[in-house]
Amino acid sequence: MHKTESLREADRLMTICNACRYCEGLCAVFPAMEMRRTFTAGDLNYLANLCHQCGACYTDCQYSPPHEFDVNIPKALAALRRDSYAQYVWPGFLRGAFSRNGLVAVLLAALSLVGFLLGFAELISSNALYSAQAGNFYRLMPHNAMVWVFGLVALFCIASFALGMRAFWRDVRGSESAPGISGFWRALADSLHLTYLHGGGDGCTSESEAPSSARRIYHHLTFYGFLLCFVATCVGTIYHYAFGWFAPYPLLSLPVVLGTLGGIGLIVGPVGLAVLTAKRESMLTDPGQRAISLAFLWTLMLVSVSGLLLLALRDTGAMGILLAIHLGFVLGLFLALPYGKFVHGLYRFLALVKYAGERNKGAFVE
Ligand code: SF4
Ligand code: SF4
Repeated sequence: MHKTESLREADRLMTICNACRYCEGLCAVFPAMEMRRTFTAGDLNYLANLCHQCGACYTDCQYSPPHEFDVNIPKALAALRRDSYAQYVWPGFLRGAFSRNGLVAVLLAALSLVGFLLGFAELISSNALYSAQAGNFYRLMPHNAMVWVFGLVALFCIASFALGMRAFWRDVRGSESAPGISGFWRALADSLHLTYLHGGGDGCTSESEAPSSARRIYHHLTFYGFLLCFVATCVGTIYHYAFGWFAPYPLLSLPVVLGTLGGIGLIVGPVGLAVLTAKRESMLTDPGQRAISLAFLWTLMLVSVSGLLLLALRDTGAMGILLAIHLGFVLGLFLALPYGKFVHGLYRFLALVKYAGERNKGAFVE
């Protein structure tokens, strides 16, 4: 008998689906399920993290409520996914953040913001904070101070992600051998294309029973917006250390163009996803998952809006305050990353790696 309610419910539903198998063409979850006759906790966590919550199996199911079988796969797997995030998190004493992540994210962002503002006031005269600095951020916060603060936070995040992923892989791997490099590339391609967010081909069911591609498009905008901002930061770092080209960079320079495009994606994508999440039928999702999703989307939006405002007003006297606000939100986002929705991408990627390994063995036919 499984230890938690979410595991027991997922086990019950997978057992029903394994007898039915009507949905086997919709996504990766059902072919992977058909490989098993019984389900360990690791199997169920693997299947839960393979699910993209497109909703197709709910609308297609003849046993969904009000049928007495009460089959609701998207909701049950969403609840189990959230529990799995808490199970694998490092350090373990912070696992409670997944049940109150909205509050944690906002508090972290606010405290970071206050810390930055106070630090600025201590280090620099208030005149410098309120006067135009020709877009030169480093007159307000020295480059080395920025590198130390964000470098330490980034290292903490990387350690937390690595240990969480190791715990996940150990739990779900079972007796499988490593999937090999081809499995890795297959999983990467499936992640980058969101292959299994198509809901069997027609799209994702969000606000009605009519499938639509909107959720996948907004998810792509969010993901690639985040990636562009990351690349912009890397290019700026290379400019600084390799070529001695120091910020502020011109508006048409590579880091600014990449950062601006990424920032736009990080506003349009999260706004679209937040609207779809708000409109989504409540029976299709777990309330806890909805809360951590919205907290993450709001934090991304605040980072992007403050970043683009900072770019637009960097030559004015508002630059100091905007820089403090933007850095505060960025720091809050980074501190909250291991304890919020962001981790779904890491565990889903590993689940896809395992799925690619099973598929490579030719154990089932799609
Ligand atoms: S979700 Fe419903 S229709 Fe689909 S396999 Fe499960 S029981 Fe069958
Ligand atoms: S919600 Fe979509 S991705 Fe999840 S199991 Fe159902 S069909 Fe598959």
